[in-house]
Amino acid sequence: MSNYIISIDQGTTSTRAIVFDHEGQIVSSGQKEHKQIFPHAGWVEHDPIEIWANTREVIGSALSSANLTRHEIASVGITNQRETTVIWDKSTGQPVYNAIVWQDTRTQSIVDELSGTEGPERFKRRVGLPLATYFSGTKIKWILDNVEGVRERAEAGDLLFGTTDSWLVWNLTGGTEGGVHITDVTNASRTLFMDLETLQWDDEILEIFGVPKSMLPEIKSSSEVYGKVHGRQLLREVPVAGILGDQQAATFGQAAFEKGGAKNTYGTGNFLIINTGEEVVHSKNGLLTTVCYKLGDAKPVYALEGAIAVTGSLIQWLRDNLGLIKTAPEVEELAKTVDDNGGVFIVPAFSGLFAPYWKGDARGVIVGLTRYVNKGHIGRAALEATAFQTREVLDAANADAGVDMEDLRVDGGMVVNDALMQFQADILGIPVIRPKVVETTALGAAYAAGLAVGFWDTTDSVTENWAEDKRWEPQMDAPERERQLRLWKKAVTRTFDWVD
Ligand code: ADP
Repeated sequence: MSNYIISIDQGTTSTRAIVFDHEGQIVSSGQKEHKQIFPHAGWVEHDPIEIWANTREVIGSALSSANLTRHEIASVGITNQRETTVIWDKSTGQPVYNAIVWQDTRTQSIVDELSGTEGPERFKRRVGLPLATYFSGTKIKWILDNVEGVRERAEAGDLLFGTTDSWLVWNLTGGTEGGVHITDVTNASRTLFMDLETLQWDDEILEIFGVPKSMLPEIKSSSEVYGKVHGRQLLREVPVAGILGDQQAATFGQAAFEKGGAKNTYGTGNFLIINTGEEVVHSKNGLLTTVCYKLGDAKPVYALEGAIAVTGSLIQWLRDNLGLIKTAPEVEELAKTVDDNGGVFIVPAFSGLFAPYWKGDARGVIVGLTRYVNKGHIGRAALEATAFQTREVLDAANADAGVDMEDLRVDGGMVVNDALMQFQADILGIPVIRPKVVETTALGAAYAAGLAVGFWDTTDSVTENWAEDKRWEPQMDAPERERQLRLWKKAVTRTFDWVD
């Protein structure tokens, strides 16, 4: 009897495998971090071979820690860091270059060149995205233009492109021995190449980028059987049946199925997603239009997204680059050594600014420094930066929707931080709600995979399984909230136009 679903969450910092039961509860898990490779300022890479090895290892740990065999697993779901770009040789399975990670800004000159006289919104109506270093398309072009011999091999049809979902599915289903080369609509919608209406690759844009269509994966729905795990692997013969990009997976795991349903995930970066139903809504306020999910043959559901590049990674920076804390959770104690931010604001525009500004040439600032300021204030300002950035994205979402959101469902690695969640409620002026299962990303992919094989019948099961764990009510008075926000916005203007 197959009582469980296994979900593989291929994230920016680590890869996890989590086994879920029918109630959406975690049964067991395995996790492994991978190397962050920083060859130059602004460049971020991962090793795809390491990621594939870690994936196999964490599947093994998740199964063995609960004494499970493949016979008890109904299907495999995959969720992944989006936009991160892998190109590999289909006859050897070897990547031609490291994976270029979503945060990497090396493609700014490609963005400028392609923007030309029409500007960065040139393709936005078709693909929902502005031209920005963030998206896979610019990264594919960089590899084709800069790694010797790659363009010729791509044009000869020898190379395949994929985000990490495609890379894992190809390997899981057999790799050089017949691996399937696919992606789902949510990941495809982050390339700059997918037409949001037809859900197909756009030939004209591919031509402008100079990317051969033969490298691209086939675009599938987010929930269907794509293939079975290949014979030599632990999960052999288990169907691979769900793929959702990490932010869309979290939206699914938070049961935000209604138009207007939303969630905010606090990880390496922050991502607010608002379900817009079957309608493609174009933002007037700096949000992206993206696919939320598509279940088998059903119509696609779309979303607006506020993507913030740096939130949790600012805490990592305090830890790794400044040595102010030894572990990320210690930032809470550090912040609590002071009563307020002491007038300090940190705007972590390390990769430029994403939503709602989209300024590739912004760089980070710490402002408001006086002789009074100590490391507690810096810690506090780092946490507050996450909350302020979220407020600006929520304002954009409310302006696009024409109605104000009444509360906010949250998840991700930072939501264990009580001080941050309280400050978030204070700065938003609405309640912040955390669900019982905060691994919503892995859970969302498990649901997509389970729905495809009849393990769950409808999304109602997901809604029934969702439960509230904790809620933070706003306590700050409105004039103080407005004052803080005004200072924050002034700080943001100090980051603009920094790159020479
Ligand atoms: P991702 O899925 O993007 O890899 P996670 O959801 O695992 O990220 O969240 C990890 C991030 O959360 C890290 O950037 C880390 O700095 C941050 N983080 C972890 N614990 C805390 C904490 N207690 N307070 C603030 N930030 C935290």
